[in-house]
Amino acid sequence: MIKLLLVCFFISFTSQSLASSDVKLEIDSLLAKADDLRSKDPQQFNELILKLNSLNNNLSSKQEDYLEYLKGYQLAFNGDFNQAELVWERISAKGSTTEIKFRSNLSLINIYAYTKEWSKGLSFLEENLKNLHLINNPELSQLGISAAAIFYNQIGQYELGLKFANQLDSLMLEGRNLCVARHQIAESKFHLKILKLGSEDINNAIASCSLINEPVWQSAIHTFRARLMINNKDYKSALEVLTNNVVEIERVNYIPILSHFYALMAKAYLANDNQLKAKVFGQKSIELTDGMSNTESEVIAYDVLYKVLLNEADYESALMYYIKFAEADKAYFDDLKTKYLAFQLAQHKAVEQKVQIELLNKQNKLLQASQRLSESETENNRLFMALLIMVISLLAIAAIRSNRNQKRLKHLAEHDSLTQIYNRGHFTSAAQDAMQACQINQDDISCILFDLDKFKTINDNYGHACGDWVLKNVASTCKNIGRKNDIFARLGGEEFCVILSRCDANTAMKVAEDYRKAIAEIDSAPSGNTFPITASFGVTDSRLSGYSLEALTGHADNAMYLAKDTGRNQVCSYRDVVAADDSNSVII
Ligand code: GH3
Ligand code: MG
Ligand code: MG
Repeated sequence: MIKLLLVCFFISFTSQSLASSDVKLEIDSLLAKADDLRSKDPQQFNELILKLNSLNNNLSSKQEDYLEYLKGYQLAFNGDFNQAELVWERISAKGSTTEIKFRSNLSLINIYAYTKEWSKGLSFLEENLKNLHLINNPELSQLGISAAAIFYNQIGQYELGLKFANQLDSLMLEGRNLCVARHQIAESKFHLKILKLGSEDINNAIASCSLINEPVWQSAIHTFRARLMINNKDYKSALEVLTNNVVEIERVNYIPILSHFYALMAKAYLANDNQLKAKVFGQKSIELTDGMSNTESEVIAYDVLYKVLLNEADYESALMYYIKFAEADKAYFDDLKTKYLAFQLAQHKAVEQKVQIELLNKQNKLLQASQRLSESETENNRLFMALLIMVISLLAIAAIRSNRNQKRLKHLAEHDSLTQIYNRGHFTSAAQDAMQACQINQDDISCILFDLDKFKTINDNYGHACGDWVLKNVASTCKNIGRKNDIFARLGGEEFCVILSRCDANTAMKVAEDYRKAIAEIDSAPSGNTFPITASFGVTDSRLSGYSLEALTGHADNAMYLAKDTGRNQVCSYRDVVAADDSNSVII
């Protein structure tokens, strides 16, 4: 019943506002004109399409889509639904604006309602509902809501039908749209069994549809009233409603509703025991529904007819009508099942999509979380590395510093602060080590000990600082003469000592001679004074004194004193001391 209403409804829509912003442009104005005339004047509409076709090269993509959309309409108008469907589906998928896609979807919903391809219709309807908020044209968006109300009622989803009808009704509509909204409210409430006779729903619907002189929608509302009365077994009132209003629907001859009127009249007459009229209206209804498939009218009419013929005892005809009734009833029921299934399928898809989206969202969140985790892990690793590097650096610095400190401390402990050569303490241990090593290997080891001559005089004559200058220069001069592993030390005051490993007294005498000469050659001028610098040397070795540091230094000291006593600035060997002692003892 609704499908033809749906066609009428969409045909009546003209998209003035789609083109109104660009009316100055000729093509836009031609398109708008064609849109306006498409149902009013098909011939002029066809001519405009031809003209627009010839201008095809000058069309923008938006205008091309608009023209395509109108061509789809032309195809549908001429009955070529398949081609129209292809055109609109293309625009729906690739159209340049949301509005033209929305309009194409509306047309497709209309076609699929007509061809009973419910699943397809639902998918385009859902897409339009998704994009409804993007439609700025109020007339078009109202059409979108109407389509939802009508389509959902049509597939038996009356709660959704009512939801969108109420939404449409809340838009403060006028005229035809108000009639449509109220009719849909009445229809969905009727099927939801919440429509009450004499209620505002019915009165408002009839009032708004009669105001615009819309007999089709108005008559449809009367069928709801009549059916409620029949359900209440108030057949008299039902017949009154139907008889009073049948004239108007007969006048416009709108078959789906007229056949329903006749079928309901037949049912009411039968219930009222008017067999004759019941048969007449039953047959009238059947005649009208001939060619229309799966209508509720057909089911009602056949039901009435077989019962009438049964009463008339025409069992053959009764059986024939009963079979037709059963077939129609089954077909009608199958039709309901198909619609229900299509809706369930769409719901299932939507749920599946939702689940899929939720799953993707969860996966996404999981990925984000793991990314954050790995980022923070990386960050932690970086921090840890930085910390580690810092700690290592600090430790390294500390180690270097401590090493330096140790070296510094060691140097301070081992060296004489004035001359920077070994002090007595370190000299003793180093000399002892050397002594042991030579003793083990039975190598010779020598000792040179020297003392600066008349040093006190230098101090006294030129000051203590000058004396220090002399001490430093003597030390640095002597350091350059010896071998690398000679142990050279300041034992105290102006007294120095050298331990020479693997060296006998003869060689040590020569080395001492080198020291003596070098000291005597020191130029004292840089100190600011000119004076001679000399030293007296005593030499001994392990062969003369044994491997005892005490004996070695003691004997060298003896030899040094011998050098002092015998004139200074010379080298004496401990052998000379022994020899002198021996000769003294001979004299004694
Ligand atoms: P001799 O030839 O007999 O060795 O005579 P000398 O004057 O060198 O011997 P003496 O022992 O009488 O004098 C040593 C002087 O060395 C006494 C002391 O003041 C001085 N002296 C000791 N240590 C230092 C020092 O570190 N710096 C300076 N400038 N003088 C020092
Ligand atoms: Mg001295
Ligand atoms: Mg001296």
